[in-house]
Amino acid sequence: MSDLRVAALSAAEAAEANDRFAKSEPQEVLKWGLERYGSRIALSSAFGAEDVALVDMLWRLDRKSRVFTLDTLRLPTETYQLMDLIKARYGTNLETYYPNLDTVAAMVKENGFNLFYRAVDFRKLCCGVRKVEPVERALKTVDAWITGLRRDQATTRANVGKVELDEAHPGLVKLNPLADWSSDQVWEYVRAYDIPYNELHDKNYPSIGCGPCTRAVLAGEDPRAGRWWWESDPNAKECGLHVSDPLKDVHITIGGIGKS
Ligand code: SF4
Repeated sequence: MSDLRVAALSAAEAAEANDRFAKSEPQEVLKWGLERYGSRIALSSAFGAEDVALVDMLWRLDRKSRVFTLDTLRLPTETYQLMDLIKARYGTNLETYYPNLDTVAAMVKENGFNLFYRAVDFRKLCCGVRKVEPVERALKTVDAWITGLRRDQATTRANVGKVELDEAHPGLVKLNPLADWSSDQVWEYVRAYDIPYNELHDKNYPSIGCGPCTRAVLAGEDPRAGRWWWESDPNAKECGLHVSDPLKDVHITIGGIGKS
């Protein structure tokens, strides 16, 4: 990866690019991103169906394309199995970011292993320690990042653009090449190229996060209903990677994470 920064896009340039790619296939967005940013762009992968499709697309465009992931240390066994399968198939040098272990230890000592079930504040603190702080480290190595966000995944994602300035991380650009794809389109691609995917998808887990915070959904339920299922507000169902100020209103502090 290069330390040389690529000039940031202005708001007008980002809007122009977003308009230009409005009806484009995901591969065109990725090709543009790779050409503009080179090793200063990476896919953030949690190994959902969207992410494995993007790993495959990137691999076909550039065998050296970068993929990073966050190992929260609470992922389901099936996700670790998939990570090994993807590494073996694509030869991906998976850049894996872990939480700060001292901070995890302090958080668990003070609040218990499964603190996230106690209240939204504790859940956000855990996501802050295990996801948000590590992703901040990962994003220091890029000028643009690629995500598998789709507009119809959640109310919180209804307006994502294919090219947008990252409001949560000023100076960075976010590419969401699958923004206008449906779940069916993603699965058509995954099956067409016989891409390994998380076994949990076959057990009614459309969206997969950490093991203790994900359950299968029932027929007719929202695809993200299985994430933090004990929480009732659908607008709060984000781990903090894609929102500004993820620890807003969290009044617990551990290792400098959270607010007093
Ligand atoms: S999804 Fe659950 S276990 Fe994973 S970081 Fe967030 S609160 Fe912690």
